[in-house]
Amino acid sequence: MKTLYKTYAQHLAEHFEGKVQKITVNAGLGCPNRDGTVGEGGCTYCDNRSFSPDYCQPKLSVAEQLRRGRDFFAYKYPAMRYLAYFQSFTNTYAPLSKLQRIYEEALSQDGIVGLVIATRPDCVNESLLNYLGQLARETYVMVEYGVESVCDATLQRINRGHNFACSRRAIEETAARGVHTGAHVIVGLPGEGRTEILHQADELSRLPIETLKLHQLQIIKGTRMEQEYQSAPDDFLTFTPQSYAELVLDYLEHLREDIAVERFTNQSPPELLATKGWGLKNHEFLHLLQAVARQRYGIHP
Ligand code: SF4
Repeated sequence: MKTLYKTYAQHLAEHFEGKVQKITVNAGLGCPNRDGTVGEGGCTYCDNRSFSPDYCQPKLSVAEQLRRGRDFFAYKYPAMRYLAYFQSFTNTYAPLSKLQRIYEEALSQDGIVGLVIATRPDCVNESLLNYLGQLARETYVMVEYGVESVCDATLQRINRGHNFACSRRAIEETAARGVHTGAHVIVGLPGEGRTEILHQADELSRLPIETLKLHQLQIIKGTRMEQEYQSAPDDFLTFTPQSYAELVLDYLEHLREDIAVERFTNQSPPELLATKGWGLKNHEFLHLLQAVARQRYGIHP
């Protein structure tokens, strides 16, 4: 039976036997787009509160965070194995010796079978990529790049601090070293309409990425993007869950079939949102997407 898209579970099944689960780790690394190295003020959608000193400085070591995560899941699934997911901020933003220490600390923990490292495309260099390439010969290593948009005008408008050529270069150089490579994008950034969004799927399909996370733009209270939205709301596409599901189907028609899509939506807590949220959990959106696909294609995706 035809499937609508390749799932992340299918991607994992290609590399592991049995169940594998990510455990999120905060290594306390900062962001060069906030501290003046690349820029100041950060991306316009970034929530300042997430940069409170308390949150940036994890109180627990990488090993302890992983141990607690493992205990939480092992209770239900004793045979589960884990990927250490360095998610918060820019997880390659430190000297190589420090990065080696934290990645290897993670890999030396029981049950940890690989790394997923989220970062900015302007925050990798040759020595780091060579090191990750070596590591990838022994274990699963995925670098997940915050591409956000393939349109330079948008990247400039959201104060991202890098252009699309930078994303392309980082992705190509990472994949060339045998490291699994993924991308994260936001759908509905200011100034982008349906044409730009579908063009994004075409551009990403030309890159050697294996996984993709996309989600609809959510405007967080107190951000510079909230001010921009108040002053120019017409620059922003607004979606209902139904219209977003229709757009996602169009997007998938443009996306290379072997790219696994890890998620389509994100739901911030309603009290943080400057606009009304959908109140839909990820699995509820997937049900809606399947229903819309059945209507469009007459298949069960
Ligand atoms: S790169 Fe990430 S952490 Fe840094 S400002 Fe942008 S959204 Fe915030």
